[in-house]
Amino acid sequence: MTPDVRDRLDRPARVTPGAAQPTGSPVPEAAWSRALQLISQADEVALACHVSPDGDALGSMLAVGFTLRSMGKRVTASFGDRDFTVPRLLRFLPGQDMLVPPADYPAAPDLMITFDSPSIGRLGVLADSVRRARELIVVDHHPSNDGFGTLDLIDPSSAATAMLAEQLIYRLGGALDRDIATCLYAGLVTDTGSFKYSSTTPAVHQMAARLVATGLRTEEIARELWDRSPFGYLKVLGAALERVRLDDGLVWTYVTRVDRAAHGLPYSELEGIIDIVRRTDEARVAAVLKEDDQGAWQVSTRSKGHVDVAAICAALGGGGHHSAAGFTSHEGVEETMAKFQELLREA
Ligand code: AMP
Ligand code: MN
Ligand code: MN
Repeated sequence: MTPDVRDRLDRPARVTPGAAQPTGSPVPEAAWSRALQLISQADEVALACHVSPDGDALGSMLAVGFTLRSMGKRVTASFGDRDFTVPRLLRFLPGQDMLVPPADYPAAPDLMITFDSPSIGRLGVLADSVRRARELIVVDHHPSNDGFGTLDLIDPSSAATAMLAEQLIYRLGGALDRDIATCLYAGLVTDTGSFKYSSTTPAVHQMAARLVATGLRTEEIARELWDRSPFGYLKVLGAALERVRLDDGLVWTYVTRVDRAAHGLPYSELEGIIDIVRRTDEARVAAVLKEDDQGAWQVSTRSKGHVDVAAICAALGGGGHHSAAGFTSHEGVEETMAKFQELLREA
């Protein structure tokens, strides 16, 4: 350990950690201890998060990456998109120098940690590294995650993987600085819909308070994540709203890659459309089909009430949470939605 690393770990946390373990967390103490043991024995740690990363996936991964680096570990971080680009709205996150494209990722890591990924499939082209990892720690909050690690740190009651990442950081003896807090905050606000969803517990606000106390710029983070986009976004949004449909409590629309190409808009810019569509009073469920660059439909779904969209999406090969889930379809728009609507009627 280099002297400045020791200095950093010995210093009292700049922000006093909260309760080391959120009440009711199903992650056993023994699992945390084992995680610390595996990490302390490793010189190199390979980190990964789910494909098309959101703020929770990338933020949790980079936050832990900072802490591991401060402990003197060599850190490699990635996500398994064939076309490896950080979504524009997440480029403000610090720590991007930790990222490597999948081609440069260790083929058989000694220790690998995955973030916010409910299954091996969601790790995309990094799946082979996952299978070949000697030790695999899975850090996640998806209820559908049945534990594909050699060690699982999974808490479905956590609003975000970032909450588990914060726990891991504290237990590693790390402190929250502004960079780490910015990454964790991006995860927390993304997955709670800016503290709007029912997952926004007191523990969420308590964590937010610890993060904000580091001096991070909440207004800048909010602006980067939600309040800006290229002009082409408005044109593509216009096309999507032009063809929106309301069928029997389901509001839905789609965006083709032709729409995007006409306005030079990358796929990752489409994330916010579902939030506009789902506001429809007359709908219980909302869906947006987004054609990716390979021609597959990535379907975002949201529920406003008792309908469990995770169950419907799981039946279609996807997954997610009760009120926010998704799946991938290789069929056409009409066929895809016919199947979705049939399952919705049965729900
Ligand atoms: P999104 O609509 O992309 O914001 O995703 C909402 C939730 O659904 C997230 O928790 C994702 O992990 C999950 N999800 C989205 N797409 C898929 C997919 N193709 N397969 C499995 N889970 C997905
Ligand atoms: Mn996610
Ligand atoms: Mn998440």
